[in-house]
Amino acid sequence: MATSTATAKALTDEKRSPSGAIVASMIESAGRLKLDGEVVELLRTSWREIHTQLPVRMDNKKLRIFEGYRVQHNGARGPYKGGVRFHPRADLDEVRALAMLMTYKCALMDLPFGGAKGGVMCDPVRMSETELNRLTRAYTQHIGMLLGVNRDIPAPDMGTNAQTMAWMMDAYGQRYGYTPGIVTGKPVDLGGSFGRDQATGRGVATCMREYARLEGTNPAEIRVAIQGYGNVGSWVCRVASELGFRIIAVSDVKGGIHNPAGIDIAAVDRWFSVAGSVAGFPEAEPITNEQILEVDCDYLVPAAVEEVITGENAGAIRARAVIEAANHPVTPSGDAILAERGIPVLPDVLVNAGGVTVSYFEWTQNIQQFRWSLERVNQELESRMVTVFNDLMSRVARDGTRPRQAAFDIALERVGRAIMLRGFV
Ligand code: NAD
Repeated sequence: MATSTATAKALTDEKRSPSGAIVASMIESAGRLKLDGEVVELLRTSWREIHTQLPVRMDNKKLRIFEGYRVQHNGARGPYKGGVRFHPRADLDEVRALAMLMTYKCALMDLPFGGAKGGVMCDPVRMSETELNRLTRAYTQHIGMLLGVNRDIPAPDMGTNAQTMAWMMDAYGQRYGYTPGIVTGKPVDLGGSFGRDQATGRGVATCMREYARLEGTNPAEIRVAIQGYGNVGSWVCRVASELGFRIIAVSDVKGGIHNPAGIDIAAVDRWFSVAGSVAGFPEAEPITNEQILEVDCDYLVPAAVEEVITGENAGAIRARAVIEAANHPVTPSGDAILAERGIPVLPDVLVNAGGVTVSYFEWTQNIQQFRWSLERVNQELESRMVTVFNDLMSRVARDGTRPRQAAFDIALERVGRAIMLRGFV
């Protein structure tokens, strides 16, 4: 494939949409790897995309028709895997971009899965439990023919949770028979895995510890600022403070707190359980969500929402390294500025992959019909995170690439090999 001018044009054209940005990174990586042009063509688009109407009778007896999607990007390495998002902005291109990312995330983590994602354009916050139950069942029914333990295995994402997965498993089971391995992220009572709730945050903290080891620094000397105190952020705080890191700032959607001397996370947890926010915690000063990104710290961990570090504020970041716990927290222009300033970014595809890794363990346990202990789950997670982290950093050292580029290179190389071996092209 001719790379130079064509690639430059594709990079410009395709950066315009969320999936375009992923395709641009893939093309850039394919250029470095000198990958077969036909493989690149195959990966530019999805293997299969479903766009379906979801008619749901609402509690007020009126019919509402929602739009649902399931995108299967590439299945060369195994069954499709990816979450289902219930969100007002969950349109086809966003779902497509996330499906592409899953292909590369699963490959980087060496999980035997391809990449997929699902979405329903709705606002779950404004829907009742019964409406969400009906919507989930309609969605499962409409995409059911694509699913299967060895075909496509959904999981929770934004706006969905373990309860949603219980409904999906039940709706699928009514038609096809009891199949717990059809979804991951289920409640433990229905075959979910111990440790799934803390897996993503634990994986993030493991990456921080490994990065500190690589730098030759002691966690006790490392000041960490974490944006977000939801599932991921709160577990990063807990595990990182157990590992000895000094957490100096943390925030949620209502505001943040800052104490350069360090924050007692157990005390914040107790405060949060009463106040419903970290904001107002008495042993720290208030800080806004904008300020926390620019606070004087060593590691900055965006763990809330996407696109918070941009071309506008990347120049003001004072951290020594950015650890991407959220999905896509740094925009391409933010990334370019951080690169120019020599601030390394540990990429989301590695850093937050603890969640999909324990989803894989859940699927494995369901297939074997044998439950692992929490200790085993945590130990297997730790071992995989450390292995992948070290492989990635060796690649960075070997090729002189940035960690995000190296992650793409490792993943794309694996996906490309599987495509060729299978004879897809
Ligand atoms: P969550 O909903 O549990 O928590 C989100 C946190 O962000 C909350 O503390 C919320 O108050 C805060 N927040 C929301 N809007 C904000 C804003 N505008 N500014 C600052 N803070 C804001 O979500 P989560 O599961 O912790 O996921 C966080 C991120 O990690 C998302 O990008 C998600 O896609 C990604 N992620 C999550 C998992 C997982 O297993 N939960 C796995 C991989 C990636």
